[in-house]
Parts: sequence; C-alpha cells; structure tokens
Amino acid sequence: MAYDKSIAAFEEAYKVIPGGVDSPVRAFNGVEGTPPFIERGEGGYLYDIDGNRYIDYVQSWGPLIFGHCDADIEASVIDAVKRGLSFGAPTNVETELAAEIVALFESIDKVRFVSSGTEAVMSAIRLARGFTGRDNILKFTGCYHGHSDSLLVQAGSGLATFGAPSSPGVPADLTKHTLLATYNDMASVEKCFEDANGEIACVIIEPIAGNMGLVPADESFLEGLRTLCDAHGTLLIFDEVMSGFRASLKGAQGITQVKPDMVTLGKVIGAGMPVGAFGARAEIMAHLSPEGPVYQAGTLSGNPVAMTAGLTSLRKLKSNPAIYVDLGKKAKKLVEGFKKAADAVNVPMVTDVRGSMFGFFFSDKPVKNFADAMENDQKMFAKFHKGMLDRGVYLACSSFEAGFISAATTDEMIEESIKAAYETLAEIAS
Ligand SMILES: *Cc1c(COP(=O)(O)O)cnc(C)c1O
Repeated sequence: MAYDKSIAAFEEAYKVIPGGVDSPVRAFNGVEGTPPFIERGEGGYLYDIDGNRYIDYVQSWGPLIFGHCDADIEASVIDAVKRGLSFGAPTNVETELAAEIVALFESIDKVRFVSSGTEAVMSAIRLARGFTGRDNILKFTGCYHGHSDSLLVQAGSGLATFGAPSSPGVPADLTKHTLLATYNDMASVEKCFEDANGEIACVIIEPIAGNMGLVPADESFLEGLRTLCDAHGTLLIFDEVMSGFRASLKGAQGITQVKPDMVTLGKVIGAGMPVGAFGARAEIMAHLSPEGPVYQAGTLSGNPVAMTAGLTSLRKLKSNPAIYVDLGKKAKKLVEGFKKAADAVNVPMVTDVRGSMFGFFFSDKPVKNFADAMENDQKMFAKFHKGMLDRGVYLACSSFEAGFISAATTDEMIEESIKAAYETLAEIAS
C-alpha cells in the first residue's frame, strides 16, 4: 500500500502540532510506520487520503458502535445543527438522554453530562471526595481514567506504550493521595486500606479493563471490592467510559452482579461527539453544585448536537438488544481466527472478548493484570500491526488497547481480516 500523502501530511502536522497528533497514541510510536491520515469513514470502513481502504477495528477508540456515518445518527445531528450548535441553557434533549440512562442503570438516579471521559472521571472523583470528606483514592495499575492530575499514575495504554508510568507536570503533592493496587489481586487492595487506615474516598476501577489490552476483572475480585468498600464507607466507582454500551447495553453492569456507587460514561454515549457523563444515587448527586457544595461546570456540557447524537444512538441500541449477541459472535470469530493463524506458525497468543470489545496478546499465559500485559511480545505486535495495515486492516496501534466490532462490521470483513492475519503471521514467521 502507498502512504505517500499521509507521510507528507504527517510531516506538515509535525511542524505545527506536537508529535503531529492531538492525542499521543495516534502517532503510531509503538508500531512501525506512519499513521494514515483519514479522509472519511463509511460503515465498517475507513478511507485515507492516499485512497487506501481499511476495515476499521478502532472506531474512533470505541464510540462508533454503529460504524461510520450511520444514517439515523447523521440525520438527527444535522437536524440539531440547524437549530443551533450550543446555547449554554437547558434543552429537553439533555433530560431525554438523562432519563434513558437513569432507566438503564440501577446505580444511577441522576446523571450530569460533561464533554469527555477525562472530565467525567475527574468530576466523579471530586464528588466522591466531597461526599465522603476524604482525600485518598485508590486506582489500579494499568487502568486508565483520563489525563487529570490525580489519576495519571501508572495508567496503561498510551503511557504504557511510551514507557512513561506517570507524567512530568503532575506535582507529587497531587498524586500522594492516589493509592495503587494490582488488578485482580485482593491482597494488594487490602494492604492499601490498611496503609490508609480505611480512610479512602473511593476505589475506581475499569470493571472490564480496556487500556492495558482487554483484561476483565474476575467476579470474585469485584465482589471483594464491594465488601471492602462497604466495610469502610468507601465509594466504588465503575469507570465504564469504554465498556459502557460496549460490553453489553449496560456495560460491565450487564455482566457482573456487583453494583457500584458511581458510574462514569463516555465514548459510545456520544456516538462520536464529545460527551462524558457521571452518575450515582440521588443522595450522592445531591452534593453536586448547584444542589450541593461540590463545584463542577462546563460551557459546552450537554450541548444539543452532542446530546442528540448520543440519544439517537442509545435509542437505537435499546430498540435492538440482540445487537450485542451479534457483535459478540463476530468479535469471537475474529479473535479465534487470529488465534488459529498464530497457532499455525507456533506464535503464542491469548485472546478475550466482552460483547463488542476484543483483545489479543502475543503471550503464552493468561493476562490478569498490568504486569502480565507488559510481558506481551510488543515487537511481534508491531510487525503484526504493520502487516495487517498493509492488507487493509486497521487495528489499534498499541498492544495495550482493546479492539471494537461495530454493527457495520460484516462477516465478510471478519473473514478478510482473518485471511490477512494468516498471511501476515506466515510472513513474520518465515
Ligand atoms: C477513554 C477513557 C477515558 C478518558 O476519556 P476521554 O474522552 O479520552 O477523556 C477514561 N476512562 C476510560 C476507561 C477510558 O477508556
């Protein structure tokens, strides 16, 4: 495949944008080659400015569960655009989307909209601290919760790829209240609670981690967290920015029996527009400004165009619950195909699927936490990624990212991708 125009465009971008990108992982630093510059998307495909076509398993890093340019979402958004982009005043569409979310999630009585997942989590943490009157928070190594200061500690994906466990510019004073535990390891959590004398405002977790590759939490682990949080008056926050509406309609909460106290949402909730949200039971949400003293605000929060995209997408999902069965089957078929292709050349691979999310590691043992994920063969991944891209399959450019199936991903696309995997792995092995 020729990438001449993308290579030139990347050079131009590099002159005026740090690293040539507006979000680090897009720069392809963890894999070989330059990032294709995208011209447009259509259903399950992406087209770059050189005219190459790719089967898209990134889908804007998760949001596009109906694929690119879904006719219903597009039409409703255009209709909203014609009435004005933003008013900074209440609109009915915010209430409608909020009502849909409240009806869906048992743990949410009220929800506040923001413009990104980062903002959602940052605000949820502030609310948890304000509600409990405690400063300490507990997160897990390898879980990513956006780039706000107190959460930028051992945070997976982009940071993992670049080997930077945390970031300069974040004062140690701001992260000293962030306790770190090991995913799927209850003893490490108990140790944190002992160290902090139980004075922990919240435990935040990706109940299905997607930012160290796809690494689901064990049910017994989530149950353990619930018990420990209850014993200490600590809030349990499920960060479902990625897994929400992806792993199932209710995200991880459609799979696990464990109920969180607070939930953060993003990505699919905006269907490709910038939307995040955080919600909890009424008692907790009552602490939020203007009802309560915990301040949080946003000029473009709940703007009508983004809300409309989210509402159309969520109603489409709700009216077609069988969609997750189909997405899950396709995800399974894809990674089982990858695994067979790897087996054929004796390359070790482990795979997992949760609804429309999939993951694969070039590794010979199950991945339960970030240390396990770090042991994946990243050089092998880089070669695999390049070979797949050259064959028209667009996978996330880091071995620490989950992949996504959309409603526009067809069986033919999956079969073509598996064929590309056989060719790529045979080429690497020879
Ligand atoms: C993507 C992500 C975020 C951050 O969301 P942005 O919209 O990129 O700010 C937070 N938490 C999780 C679990 C995510 O996957």
